Amino acid sequence: MGKSLLCRLGWHQWQRLSTEDGQRYVACRRCGKEGEVGPMIGGDGPA
Ligand SMILES: [Zn+2]
Repeated sequence: MGKSLLCRLGWHQWQRLSTEDGQRYVACRRCGKEGEVGPMIGGDGPA
């Protein structure tokens, strides 16, 4: 519940985070979904 339409469509607003042991991951700022860092994730990096 509370998921935005964009998230339901898979357009999550990923933000890059890192765990205490230095592992990087991403989580959606809107719905909180977590994911692995991959080439498809980003949007603010170089094309
Ligand atoms: Zn989301």
